[in-house]
Amino acid sequence: MNYDIYFKTKLEEKHKENNLRSLKSYTPINAVTVRWDGKDYLMMASNNYLGLTHHPQVQQAAVDASKRYGTGSGGARLTSGTFPLFTELEQELARCKGTESALVFNTGYMANVGTISAIANKEWVIVSDELNHASIIDGCRLSGATIERYKHKDVEEVEFLLQKYRGARILLITDSVFSMDGDIAPLHDLQRLSRDYHALLMVDDAHATGVIGHGIADYYDIHDVDIQLGTLSKALGSVGGFVAASRNIIQYLINYSRSFIFSTALSPADIGAALAALRIIETDRTLISKLQDNSRYMASKLIELGIPCDDETPIFPIVIGDNEKTLRAAMELQDKGIIITAIRPPTVPIGESRLRLTVTAAHSREQLDYVASALDETLQAIL
Ligand SMILES: *Cc1c(COP(=O)(O)O)cnc(C)c1O
Repeated sequence: MNYDIYFKTKLEEKHKENNLRSLKSYTPINAVTVRWDGKDYLMMASNNYLGLTHHPQVQQAAVDASKRYGTGSGGARLTSGTFPLFTELEQELARCKGTESALVFNTGYMANVGTISAIANKEWVIVSDELNHASIIDGCRLSGATIERYKHKDVEEVEFLLQKYRGARILLITDSVFSMDGDIAPLHDLQRLSRDYHALLMVDDAHATGVIGHGIADYYDIHDVDIQLGTLSKALGSVGGFVAASRNIIQYLINYSRSFIFSTALSPADIGAALAALRIIETDRTLISKLQDNSRYMASKLIELGIPCDDETPIFPIVIGDNEKTLRAAMELQDKGIIITAIRPPTVPIGESRLRLTVTAAHSREQLDYVASALDETLQAIL
């Protein structure tokens, strides 16, 4: 057995499909600029929606927390890892989401995997949107439950499935803002169906918290979503995941969620930064408004170029189709000083490779204008 050849062949397969991934080390200069190989690039691919990674108060809070409590937490949350900032952050998250309680996990990925697999088991049915995030899919698989994926946002199919499994314990789960498409889940309908058919409703607010207000429940003004999951790593400019829910669900997760129990807690700097960021979005809506203005502006520019899009979220999928062309477009844009990642399978379905353009509150109008003109030239050349 030559294992090295095995791995090499696997990588060559990826390369042939124009689907090889590799790491690049960008030096962040500010929330929207990175330096690479001596040249500055405009970052149009991050989820740092409010630019809070470089907010002076957030940076200071990370430094202060680290000075005060140390650089690492030294243990899992249930052993030595729960320092006072955790309690403060969890109370603030619960307030922000309008729930009794909240619980911080190490990442959004771990929150999904740990929550879904703790709640559902082989006696449960999970009804899940086909475009839900990979961490939801992995949580579903790990749970051992029966998994029913419905067509993207297809409320009729959801109802059909809920009817089919009437009487079973059902977890109905959706991304709230879909990560690769930027559209918003039909929460009014899902909420109604979950009540009519007694399903537990879970939403993943990773791209919604601090983007469409405080999250999808806030956006639709719905107050009885059972489980609101989120991340501290996107609009909140730190790292980590969380679940906001009733006191009983949170206590259940503390006792049953393996990704929560068996991993060392986040560091004081992470939690300090997240808490400062959360307080900023709770007391001051100007950053969210700026983000929404920029999203609308970018949408109007893209529509001028003949690229259909919505203006409600800062995520703009520019679907090109095949991997090779999508990669070429990303390279052309890079030559023009812009980073927009080529998103390929399995992140998106085969044949739907795309540039995923994101705007943030920290971009200027001039920068967005420049991106639009560079995109226009690039797409003309590629398509
Ligand atoms: C990014 C993302 C996650 C994972 O969050 P991390 O904190 O990055 O691990 C979960 N769900 C969705 C929808 C996401 O886009």
